[in-house]
Amino acid sequence: MNPGSLHGDVARARRTLRRARVRSVVTRVAGALAGACLVAGCATVPVARTPALDPMQRFAEVTAALYRKARVPPIVIAAGVNGEGARWDGARIYVDERFVRSPHLLALVAHELGHFVLGHAGPAPVTPEMELQATAASVEILVRVLRLSEAAAVHLVYAHLLAAHDGGQPVLPGHRPPCEEIASLLRRFPAQRAWTGRLRCATTPPGAEASLPVR
Ligand SMILES: [Zn+2]
Repeated sequence: MNPGSLHGDVARARRTLRRARVRSVVTRVAGALAGACLVAGCATVPVARTPALDPMQRFAEVTAALYRKARVPPIVIAAGVNGEGARWDGARIYVDERFVRSPHLLALVAHELGHFVLGHAGPAPVTPEMELQATAASVEILVRVLRLSEAAAVHLVYAHLLAAHDGGQPVLPGHRPPCEEIASLLRRFPAQRAWTGRLRCATTPPGAEASLPVR
């Protein structure tokens, strides 16, 4: 892998998304949800629209089109996503307001779009295997929708999972620990084995994460 071209790929995709000029549906959806929550109560409370998420909405629109989905999931900024950064509830993608400017936003949204294209229902409990499938699908989406190279897409998702490991993030509901998710991710893209085989967490067996050092 050429690290220069990899970073060029990712930077180009991010510039493309920033330039996207789309009419976001976030404001309308957030307003409707806020009203519904007043009546029914919601664990996740939508807050005001942030233009910074418009590129992610455009990402969702193009994903839905390429995967021939009948609808586009609104991307909604929310408070209280419980440390997950982003969440799929079967209809919408919630992005925690604290993660809107995170360097891992693209990987977070791509993972939730993975649940979307795979047809995972949510918000019912998602199994660890479904989470691994969504993470693998996020790589495929980054390649197909944003035209990243597979190496760049794998690296983007890997960096996100490794940050979760190094940050000591608690294991999220329905997930395996981040290092084990990394090992699963890398196994699913054998064409990248020449460089991914040496990465941290690459060979973590199930149940071994607790004994691994963090940076
Ligand atoms: Zn997930």
